[in-house]
Amino acid sequence: MSKLAFLYLSHINVRFIILLVNLMLFSYDVFSNGLNNNKLKTIVIDPGHGGKDPGTLGTKRYSKYEKDIALSVSLKLGNYISNSFPDIKVIYTRKEDVFLELNERTRIANKSNADIFISVHCDGFTNSKAYGASVFVMGMSKLKANLDVAMRENAAMYLEDNYKQKYDGFDPKSAESYIVFSLMQNTYLDQSLQLAEYVEEQFAYKANRKSRGVKQAPFYVISRTNMPSILVECGFLTNPKEEDYLQTDQGQNQIAMSIFEAVKNYKLSLESSFSSNNIIDSNDINNKSENNLQSNQVVYKVQIATNLTSIFNDKKFAGIKVEEKLVNGIYKYYVGSNTDKSIVDEMKTDLKNNGFKDAFVVAFYNGKRISTKDALNLQKQNN
Ligand SMILES: [Zn+2]
Repeated sequence: MSKLAFLYLSHINVRFIILLVNLMLFSYDVFSNGLNNNKLKTIVIDPGHGGKDPGTLGTKRYSKYEKDIALSVSLKLGNYISNSFPDIKVIYTRKEDVFLELNERTRIANKSNADIFISVHCDGFTNSKAYGASVFVMGMSKLKANLDVAMRENAAMYLEDNYKQKYDGFDPKSAESYIVFSLMQNTYLDQSLQLAEYVEEQFAYKANRKSRGVKQAPFYVISRTNMPSILVECGFLTNPKEEDYLQTDQGQNQIAMSIFEAVKNYKLSLESSFSSNNIIDSNDINNKSENNLQSNQVVYKVQIATNLTSIFNDKKFAGIKVEEKLVNGIYKYYVGSNTDKSIVDEMKTDLKNNGFKDAFVVAFYNGKRISTKDALNLQKQNN
């Protein structure tokens, strides 16, 4: 335990200790339930705030606040899912402008045995220049950088009656309170990261939004759900230009469509059949990859995993030539490197059939990640 953590712990009162025990029991419960199938059947969409809690007010040039935009984007997202996949059950934590307690939101998700949980929000900041969309998973690694946004979102608790009793003395604005989150087991981190990555991909490379990346922070609402969970900050309402965009039907459609596409990718990867017992034929992969490619070329790779700590030496990578890259605090693992997308597509299929069900193709140009569509266009222009 770090010195800092010890210092915090020494200040923890009895209530916190009770909360810790609860959290440990909760983690055990989550762990023993597990993901019992690989089909996406139920999705819970959680429009942030509502009723007496408006969320971020933005620049106050509009009569619609964070709660309204979150609801609108959520309903559009749910419609896209229901229209394309009528078999998927879409559950909303709220469908109208009502106030909902944070623990009620997680209760709805857990009660419905949902396969994924998506909480939809809009960002706000004191500096109006801040803009862009972020996708969060529950976590503590970059606590200082992302604590502000978690504190702001968790502060919805203050509007609940008896919040101190309900949340065992947890104070959303006190940094010390957050130590309890670090003791929680994040059972669905891998899947949450995967879903978050897909959303980020859509924002950055398809919707042409400024993406602030996949991050982690201790949001209450995604810390108690026993399923892969993400919190999406669609953009800053305190940035006039971004607020204008998010207030329009078109902007909301685009954001909802991006999240929908990500859900679709996640569903595909979840449901593609795989066997984790097969061992990758490393020769097969290595023979197909070209090394020492020039940087001014478009290069395709297969991304096979993401993790918050390095798993470079994990035995699941045994026999595979894996490349590790640290991007915005998240470790990403790539296989192969080729200018020919069809070869990398084939590798992806091999990898998916050999236990890496989340594998997908990514493109780079001058070392920078670009969309595969842009990559193909660039190659067309250069030929
Ligand atoms: Zn919010």
